[in-house]
Amino acid sequence: MDQNFHTIVIGGGCLGTAAAISIAKLISARGHAASDVCVVDKMVVGSGLSARHSGIVRAANADPTAAVLAQKASEMWANLEEHWGVGITLENTGALWIARDTGGEGNAKWSGLERSLKEKGIDFAQMSLTDARQICPEFVRLNDDEVFYYEPGAFQVDPSNVREALYAAIKTNGVTLREKCEVLGFERGPAGDIATVVTSAGSLGCRYVINAAGPWSPAIFAGTGVSIPVSVEPVHVANWLTSLNEMPAGMPIIADYVNLAYFRQWRDGEIHMHQPRKRGIRETARAFSESPLSVLGADFMNDPTNQALGYSQMRVYEELARRRFSNIDQTVYGSGYRSFFDITPDLRFILGPDHRVPNLIHSLGSGQAFKYAPVLGAMMAEYVGGGGPLADFGHEFSISRFSDGYMGEFWSKVQGREHVLEAEGAGL
Ligand SMILES: Cc1cc2nc3c(=O)[nH]c(=O)nc-3n(C[C@H](O)[C@H](O)[C@H](O)COP(=O)(O)OP(=O)(O)OC[C@H]3O[C@@H](n4cnc5c(N)ncnc54)[C@H](O)[C@@H]3O)c2cc1C
Repeated sequence: MDQNFHTIVIGGGCLGTAAAISIAKLISARGHAASDVCVVDKMVVGSGLSARHSGIVRAANADPTAAVLAQKASEMWANLEEHWGVGITLENTGALWIARDTGGEGNAKWSGLERSLKEKGIDFAQMSLTDARQICPEFVRLNDDEVFYYEPGAFQVDPSNVREALYAAIKTNGVTLREKCEVLGFERGPAGDIATVVTSAGSLGCRYVINAAGPWSPAIFAGTGVSIPVSVEPVHVANWLTSLNEMPAGMPIIADYVNLAYFRQWRDGEIHMHQPRKRGIRETARAFSESPLSVLGADFMNDPTNQALGYSQMRVYEELARRRFSNIDQTVYGSGYRSFFDITPDLRFILGPDHRVPNLIHSLGSGQAFKYAPVLGAMMAEYVGGGGPLADFGHEFSISRFSDGYMGEFWSKVQGREHVLEAEGAGL
């Protein structure tokens, strides 16, 4: 054994780093050294999915538990100094949500969401077209047949500031960081627990293992017989360069559910856009049937071909952006890339203890992990520390819900004829 740790966190993305920081704080308050928590990443901090997020933090969410967690996370981001000992610059832009006017109240589904969020203390309220025009730059097209909801508490950050904050918080909180250190396998103890994490830089003993390896998890744990139903769904990002003179007062985040695209103001006067997750079970199952993920882990994400946008995809995005922004046809394509959402069969997190391995705890799979990072980190510390209110919240996201029966049903929903989808996926 090369070294022993209290906790080893696999994955230095935003979730793994957040978990390590909160656990280090917990154990140092209990008399251990903070350096007894070790984050291992096979590449560098923030080089996985966390290298490609849009830096948006908003609490409004149709899933009530996720909304409450996002609200708590927003508060933590706003007071990061108190929680992580480092600060981060927030751009308090608010978010304008745009939906189709379905008549009557505006949009019945969203008005219901407004009421349920209000009960949870989340400010998300319908806004008139006139008021919506007031908070947007002139080039944003807002139409009579649309309805508008405003979330004033939403904010955005520059992802490069997030990465700096992750490094600074690892250092400030005394966490041990092993970069370019790949987890290769595990040695199990007599109770079936993970006694040793075998890495490319030696064997590391531990009491707890946090799995924050996102879409690499299935490949990492395959050898232990622990299945983890996580996959990835590709999504494209485009940045349109606009005139700095057109955005004097900034722009709110625009969650455009008419055109199915998110927009935010990006560095250097750009409008950044990408589409939301697809929510159809067929699309989700297709992602799971792509066998490359289980063989290689999610490494194909970093393929250089993902660092550009194809011509036809760019045209699709240009058309979508033009519907919302009157200045797009006079602007410049700045940059674009293909990125990936981490997804589970029900598109919800996998959080908390694994029912098959006593000292293994998961934190992954939300598709929107960046914004939740501080709260999920604190939740992981509660699991290690013996429980707490956040851990109670997390129970509904346990991996045990994906029993064989669940997965059988999942596949049966997409099999028109036997294995048709898998055959389709294999040919992709
Ligand atoms: C276009 C786009 C925009 C997005 N925008 C937002 C947004 O605005 N707000 C938001 O909240 N979310 C957003 N997301 C989602 C967000 O990017 C991800 O959910 C989040 O980054 C996942 O973080 P993670 O820590 O779980 O995983 P990762 O960042 O992928 O971390 C996993 C780490 O594990 C490491 N690893 C893998 N295998 C091994 C191994 N064998 N040994 C050691 N380490 C290993 C990897 O190198 C990696 O660093 C967006 C996603 C996309 C695609």
